[in-house]
Amino acid sequence: MDLSYICVNHNCSFPGANPFEVTFKSESIMDENNVASLFCPFCRSELMLVRVPDVFPEKLPKDNTI
Ligand SMILES: [Zn+2]
Repeated sequence: MDLSYICVNHNCSFPGANPFEVTFKSESIMDENNVASLFCPFCRSELMLVRVPDVFPEKLPKDNTI
């Protein structure tokens, strides 16, 4: 599971089309509760944590295993 932090400030000065986003691989974070709050470098708002579930190969349909 990846962890993404997204800036939800509507007045953010980030120049991209999408909101400013930072993504961490789950392997790089042992305990998400120990992750300090992150702040947007453009507007200094606190970033909102979004969980991005992984798709594991063992959970894919097995229709192609014949
Ligand atoms: Zn921002």
